[in-house]
Amino acid sequence: MSINQAIKKVEERYAHQPEFVQAVKEVALTIAPLYDAHPEYEKLKIFERLVEPDRVIAFRVNWENDKGEVQVNRGWRVQFCNALGPYKGGLRFHPTVNQSVLKFLGFEQIFKNALTGLPIGGGKGGSDFDPKGKSESEIRRFCYAFMRELHHYISKDMDVPAGDIGVGGREVSYMYAMYKNLTHEYSGVLTGKGVGFGGSLMRTEATGYGAVYFLENMLKAQNESIEGKVVLVSGAGNVSLHAAEKACMLGAKVVTVSDSQGTLYDEKGLDQEKINWLKKQKDQSKPLSEYIEVYGGEWFAGQKPWHIKGDIAIPSATQNEVNEEDAKLMVDNGIKYVVEGANMPLTAEAIDHIRDNRVHYAPGKAANAGGVAVSALEMSQNSVRQYKTFEQIDERLKNIMKNIHDCAAEASETYNQTDNGYVDYMAGSNIVGFKRVADALVAYGFLN
Ligand code: GLU
Repeated sequence: MSINQAIKKVEERYAHQPEFVQAVKEVALTIAPLYDAHPEYEKLKIFERLVEPDRVIAFRVNWENDKGEVQVNRGWRVQFCNALGPYKGGLRFHPTVNQSVLKFLGFEQIFKNALTGLPIGGGKGGSDFDPKGKSESEIRRFCYAFMRELHHYISKDMDVPAGDIGVGGREVSYMYAMYKNLTHEYSGVLTGKGVGFGGSLMRTEATGYGAVYFLENMLKAQNESIEGKVVLVSGAGNVSLHAAEKACMLGAKVVTVSDSQGTLYDEKGLDQEKINWLKKQKDQSKPLSEYIEVYGGEWFAGQKPWHIKGDIAIPSATQNEVNEEDAKLMVDNGIKYVVEGANMPLTAEAIDHIRDNRVHYAPGKAANAGGVAVSALEMSQNSVRQYKTFEQIDERLKNIMKNIHDCAAEASETYNQTDNGYVDYMAGSNIVGFKRVADALVAYGFLN
């Protein structure tokens, strides 16, 4: 079956899973030159096999709210592919979570994790539980209940979850406590743990910092530097605020962050004090808009950042947050680089528009791989029970991001996707990630 036939089959079979189909098509359309050069992939039906997860585990989560009422949520773990290592990927708690979203995230995670060069397979999980408006005790009870079910299906050498949207250090700690309680095992079964009990230094910062390190490499390839560049960031979560922080540290002027209520625009640019204020505000689930009462600037209610002029955009909120209209605004407002902090934040039409206009584009599976890379470093620190310093992890992260950049750029060149200095990072990273997984599958024969 050719790649085109395989896409058609996925489209027909999973018409009710649009995000998953979108993620599959993006990979399929860019790996054709690699596939053509490797007839063994076709023979062993590698693509057709990779679009089906090893398994999808679905379970019910019962918990009790503060009023003593029983609540019922759904939970899932998608164990997508363990060709390169234990299934690895975050847990997302958000009302939009469903099988389509988790399958798209799990599918992307396979190639992202392969790109890190570290021994981790791809998986993802989560629940349609909405942490918004829940009390601390409700969140704790939900996390305990979720892990009471999930613990049957994970272990440190088989499947290692972590955080994602709605799941941070606090939630990971509650889930870790329940796992430990049920299994009597103190192991690296979850990453993103607190630093005092097995967590890695820098895990919190890693995704955002890593995205900016990737950006630095892209800029260098064009003989440019980040200093003085105007940066638009969307979102105000862990990835956004750490991307903003690192960009500021390196001399960029970050003028926006945003949330579901609107966009904060500070023409003077953020600095460390303002970012610390934003982190605290978000930790306490308080409105972003209060910023202007403290530091000035403008609040654009109900708007995204893309109508503002800038050089670099780092969309870091959620999937499909940037549509074709937004992409047109980006191009019209002078954006020259788009670096995805979130997973699949651009729709297929938005990607086409910015690429048609030769805006340098780093897909999430390359640019935001720093988070899961430091998770893999957390796993190895847990195994040897020895911990590295912040500086040591930072150095590793910089090298990993440079390596992902360089491998993607090299593959773009090798497979004739680089056009007059315009590097196709999308094709390059899909090719590198896919090849690493496909070669392992070929070596295994038809098992896996
Ligand atoms: N959720 C993050 C991602 O999208 C991190 C996963 C992990 O650390 O396992 O890559």
